Amino acid sequence: MDLPKLAVAALGGTVCMQARNAGEGVIPTVSGETLLTAIPELTTLARVTVETLGMLPSASLDFEFLLSVLCWAKFQAKQGAVGVVIIQGTDTLEEVASFFEYLWPHDIPLVLTGAMRSAAQPGGDGPANLLDACRVALAHHSQQRGVQVVMNGQIHHASNVRKTDSLALQAFSSPVTGPIGLLLEDRVHYLRPPRHRAVLPLPQKTSQKVAMLEASLSADTLLLENILALGYDGLVIAGFGAGHVSQSWAKVIEKIARKIPVIIATRTGSGSTARATYGFSGGEMDLISKGASMAGFLCPRKARTLLWLLIGCQRQDELPRYLGSDMVLHH
Ligand code: ASP
Repeated sequence: MDLPKLAVAALGGTVCMQARNAGEGVIPTVSGETLLTAIPELTTLARVTVETLGMLPSASLDFEFLLSVLCWAKFQAKQGAVGVVIIQGTDTLEEVASFFEYLWPHDIPLVLTGAMRSAAQPGGDGPANLLDACRVALAHHSQQRGVQVVMNGQIHHASNVRKTDSLALQAFSSPVTGPIGLLLEDRVHYLRPPRHRAVLPLPQKTSQKVAMLEASLSADTLLLENILALGYDGLVIAGFGAGHVSQSWAKVIEKIARKIPVIIATRTGSGSTARATYGFSGGEMDLISKGASMAGFLCPRKARTLLWLLIGCQRQDELPRYLGSDMVLHH
């Protein structure tokens, strides 16, 4: 029987990490090719091409490198792969997933995975996550679902998934919605139908700078006041509660929003920003009237990724449309 073609790439992360010598910290050294030897059953499911495109802790990935990974993944799709799996560190998985989700133009699934335990640790979750991710990428009902993250037996959509625990095996969750699917007895089960996707063109430039600041109690305005002078092209605020800042921040944000796009998200870790509830100075109604956009359900990090991409393809004027599409609300 002709097995389907699956493309796998490793970028690094804990899943690829081990210590060179006893007592030393783990660093990424294990190639994608070696990772696949831990899941020999994959050869009965697919013809696999595997490449090691990077060997980085995920904190050191950047958007330019991710564009080259995207280019590789698109090439694999053109070469007939039925799915693509990318193995990387978990620390920035939520941002990378949404970066690819905004740009992935194909019907075939792009699946991201990693591990919370390193390659050499007892009970390492890397092989199980990798096999699960491959199963998701190969499943015919994964078509038209865009970019998904597979970790610890769960499937999360790129637009909602967040790393919500620093070290636990169950480190990923999708606040409000929960996972979109599960792996049970080696089978892929979706709990929801595919959703509408809005795919952006590739950015024509990559030099744009988007700052991100978190509101905190009694914070001064020094950094905020210097955002324009420092040459930033966009600003994301992780605001209090439903998307709020102090009165002093609100005054500065008004000046900034006259010049560059400003998005206010919530720093709470779950839920949406408000639009029409709070009227105080620094509340969401005030910030909207001062020219800021509310992130809705997008977390601050994903909002920053979106803004960077929109500025890169000169579509920042369409920000409201893309902020509105991150979660479908049924009225
Ligand atoms: N702790 C991280 C991980 O889980 C390291 C990284 O993101 O590269 O992979």
